[in-house]
Order: sequence, then structure tokens, then C-alpha cells
Amino acid sequence: MRELNRLGLTSVCDAGGGFQNYPDDYAVISELHQRGELSLRIAYNLFTQNKGGEKADFQRWIGMTRPGSGDDYYKVNGAGEMLVFSAADFEDFLEPRPDLPTSLEPELKEVVTLLAQNRWPFRLHATYEESINRFLNVFEEVNREVPLQGLHWFFDHCETISDRSLERVKALGGGIAIQHRMAFQGEYFVNRYGAATAARTPPVRRMLEMGLPVGAGTDATRVANYNPWNSLYWLVAGKTVGGLSLYPEKNCLSREEALRLYTQGSAWFSRDEEVKGVIKPGQLADLIVLSDDYFSVPEEKIKSLHSVLTLLGGKPVWAEAEFKDHAPPELPVTPDWSPVAKFGGYGAPHFLRSERSVSFSPWASPKVMRRSGVQAEPVPLSQLWGSGCDCFAF
Ligand SMILES: [Zn+2]
Repeated sequence: MRELNRLGLTSVCDAGGGFQNYPDDYAVISELHQRGELSLRIAYNLFTQNKGGEKADFQRWIGMTRPGSGDDYYKVNGAGEMLVFSAADFEDFLEPRPDLPTSLEPELKEVVTLLAQNRWPFRLHATYEESINRFLNVFEEVNREVPLQGLHWFFDHCETISDRSLERVKALGGGIAIQHRMAFQGEYFVNRYGAATAARTPPVRRMLEMGLPVGAGTDATRVANYNPWNSLYWLVAGKTVGGLSLYPEKNCLSREEALRLYTQGSAWFSRDEEVKGVIKPGQLADLIVLSDDYFSVPEEKIKSLHSVLTLLGGKPVWAEAEFKDHAPPELPVTPDWSPVAKFGGYGAPHFLRSERSVSFSPWASPKVMRRSGVQAEPVPLSQLWGSGCDCFAF
């Protein structure tokens, strides 16, 4: 959380993830919330981990909690991004597009009907138009029986969504949460599908022209980096992190448009439009002071912006430079015997930088510290890794 505060984030919308079981794996974050130690507002979606038993998961959770349960710091946002395993069209552009099984339609219909009947907002991971078309067939069928309007349902990603599908999303009252996955996989996408297809992946400009709710994010941490400034750079410059230009000028956003997607735009996706996204009376007192002027720095410098002061509910949760006197206390180091507690930073590289008088070669019989009861003692590295190969990233 502190790292995200450093990058200027005050709220996240969590799409769940593999092996993130509700409620057991949420106990740590719930305890931090109860202790008043969250430095980030979290709206979390419930992601089924139960292939073949997805509906049972959602039935159980509908009986346990409800969307909006919690407070401004920590609340249930709805279901997804995994609703049924048969609808997961993973985004590895090194591989051919996956064809989803025919069990998708009946399984997805059961779950979405259940969610709509209970007025649970939902989100669904969706990469390719071919899958999105099938998802929309299901949603339209459900909508004829249980209206989806007003539910704030949405797709995540939508790299190759067609204009026709955008119209169908709009007609059903949905939104689209976009992320900078193409900044990392753009080269692979172009190799497989060509530059012309890549030119609208996703078609953000078209979404905005149509008046669809659009929120921007990162899809961290498995698919992309969590740094919002990389994502804003991608929206503005239209380039991958490797420097490949993906989009024509008209599909790139102005800096203001990109920032609006990250603030006001994303607030729709956690139903927080009344309290987040704008600095004005009545909204939560979350704001940041940046290391440089986002609107005037050279485009390439957008990627290295960060916050020098982050306020959450009016309280500093990150401060440095001229604001460092307002910084919250250092976080405790766990485990307490970690070298980080003594030397600071992230371990060996910092150690090497800050202790220049010490001659230290990681390749020539290095010594590292190992815990021994309450005392730390130096041991040869080879004893830690046994007699096998000592190759590792240092
Ligand atoms: Zn996803």
C-alpha cells in the first residue's frame, strides 16, 4: 500500500485473482482495516476459485454479504472478474486466440441470472471480440428476463472489441475497464495480428465518443506493472514500454482525457462518483502533489512521475522531499532480523552501494546472514543453497 501511495494512488478496485479465496484470504486486509491501518481504499470483487462450482460460490457469497458492504475504506464491489471458468479467454498474445467451450453459454447464463436477480454488480474478464460477442448474447438473454440496467456491470480489458459490441454494451447499461496490457504485449500482438489490427486495441477513443463509462487501470500485478504513470503514458503516447508506436494520433488521448479516466472515469466502476474523482466539497479528501507537472513535462517523463505528498481522508500516507516532515512513520520490517532493518532499502544492491568501504563480491565466497535463534551469524552462501548450482539473480 505504501508503494502505491508513493505512486499517487489512493483507491484501487480489486478484480480478485487466482487462489484469492473469500473470505479466508481476506482476513489480513480485514484486520488492517479494523485497526485503521489501510492507507488505500479498496473495493473488491469476489472471484470464484471453484471450477464447476462457480454458481455455488456466488450463492454462498450472496448469503454472506452484499455489494457496498463495508465503508469508504474497504467494501464489497460485486462479482468477478472470473464468473465461470469456461469464459476465461486469457490474453497471451504469443499464443493463438483460445476458442471457448460450448459450456460457456449455459454456465454464464446461470451465474449472471443469479447475480442480476440479487442486484449484484459484476465484471467479466474479456479480451477478444469473439468471446465478447458470445458473452453479450448471454447478457442480452438474461436482460430479457432480469433487467441489467443500473447494475454498473462491466467488462475488463476488451482489446479487440468491435464497434457493434460497444453498441450492445451501451444498450445494456454496461461499462469498460481498460488497462495497459498492450504496453507490455504490443509487440507480440503486432507480430501475430498485424499493426492495423493493433491500432485500436482497445478502441478507447470510440468508447468515449459513444459515451460509455470507461475507467483506466493497470491489471497489476500478474499481467502488467502496477505503476499508473506507465498506464497514463501508454494512453497518451500510444506506445509500448519497448517504444513501439501502436496507435494513430486519433486513438491516443490528451493528458487531461487520460487523467479523467483514471479519476472520474474509474469512480463509476465502484459506484463512487459522488465521493471520488474530483477535488470539491463533498468528495473524500484524497489528493496528491506530484514530483513534476503532469501536464507540461516531456511525454517520456510521464513514466517517472510520482507523488511527493499523498493525502487519504486528509491525512498524509506518503510524504517526501519538501513534505517529508509530514511522512507517516516507517513501516516495521518483517521479519525483524531482515538485513533491510539494518541497512534499509531492498537488500544487497543497497548494501553494496551504501557500504563502499566493505569489499564484497557475490561471486567469491560471499557471506550472508542467517537467523540462528535470536542471533544472526554469517554463513557461507554455499551452505544455504547446498552443493548445487549457486546461480541466482543477485
Ligand atoms: Zn482479466
